[in-house]
Amino acid sequence: MTNPTLLILPGDGIGPEVMAEVRRIIDWFGAKRGLAFDVTEDLVGGAAYDVHGVPLSDETMAKAQEVDAVLLGAVGGPQYDTLDFSLKPERGLLRLRKEMDLFANLRPAQCFDALADFSSLKPEVVAGLDIMIVRELTSGVYFGEPRGIFEEGNERVGINTQRYTESEIDRVARAAFELAKKRAGKVCSMEKANVMESGILWREVVQKVHDESYPEVELSHMYADAGGMQLCRWPKQFDVIVTDNLFGDLLSDVAAMLTGSLGMLPSASLGAPMANGRPKALYEPVHGSAPDIAGQGKANPCACILSFAMALRYSFDQGDEATRLEKAVETVLADGVRTADLMQAEGGAPASTRQMGDAVLAALDASL
Ligand code: NAD
Repeated sequence: MTNPTLLILPGDGIGPEVMAEVRRIIDWFGAKRGLAFDVTEDLVGGAAYDVHGVPLSDETMAKAQEVDAVLLGAVGGPQYDTLDFSLKPERGLLRLRKEMDLFANLRPAQCFDALADFSSLKPEVVAGLDIMIVRELTSGVYFGEPRGIFEEGNERVGINTQRYTESEIDRVARAAFELAKKRAGKVCSMEKANVMESGILWREVVQKVHDESYPEVELSHMYADAGGMQLCRWPKQFDVIVTDNLFGDLLSDVAAMLTGSLGMLPSASLGAPMANGRPKALYEPVHGSAPDIAGQGKANPCACILSFAMALRYSFDQGDEATRLEKAVETVLADGVRTADLMQAEGGAPASTRQMGDAVLAALDASL
């Protein structure tokens, strides 16, 4: 048996710092759980631009297409702000998403009990929250044609087009139903079928996929604006939410903030299954390169660590080991270990990035 393969792209700013902790955790799973990975590391974003003059080289892109999963830190930084649009660090990430055709973006909003006070909502509304937003990532209004700013009479008009084909809706709906089967078995689909034809088609196709292939999953439909309200009113009513690119962009940020810190939020972007049955996959924290704290050992590595937990679950079918890692993070937080972003007025010295990694490794050891 050959080991599963991982391409690690630490990127810029705090990316390499948080990824260094993930590397130690990957090694732990190899040494202690017999789960060895063949890991290669490469450049993306500003780090790739500095060496190759482009934010993602063709060689790195080719590697990303071959491996079982890609794990990315973060890209960007003020020193690259004046670069031409096509050379900006973010273009490297967008190229990966586009060429790997990663159409389903998974953003969990999970509130660890120890951090319930961090939410802007009441602790009882968010404690124990565990929802998953599946956002369609490669179509919709951000890509639809015609688009542009045109002259019309004596003024200009800005145009974007919301466009979805049945097959695009079908595949992201299937991704959501498959996830729900591994979770609490509920999907809520959100669109604006009351005012948008693309929403009517969305609702019809999601219902059809459900009725034909996933009758055991509980399906509901909600208008996306009402969904935003319900997310703030009583988020625990949801399990999996599936929605389009635009609404997903907004709703996943709302859901993320229910849980407190950016330093805790992982994500996965999945595509079609490869020949070995595993989906094309890119895992990354939601946060950016945090230039304000880069190089100071202050960054919280948990979002990146939890992104690796998602890789264990969704790429490598190691749900139990993913839970082991998530529980280790939960234990560390319950024990009061906090990086600076997780500290309120209570005082005391914050843990460094490395100390947070040490604590997670100790909790993993204790889980054996
Ligand atoms: P950011 O997420 O980098 O930082 C926002 C704030 O959160 C900062 O105060 C930062 O210190 C803090 N923060 C973020 N992650 C943290 C962590 N793990 N631990 C502790 N604190 C953390 O967003 P920004 O400041 O808007 O953007 C900075 C750069 O990152 C820009 O170049 C932007 O384009 C890029 N960016 C990249 C990604 C990505 O790689 N996916 C996402 C967002 C922004």
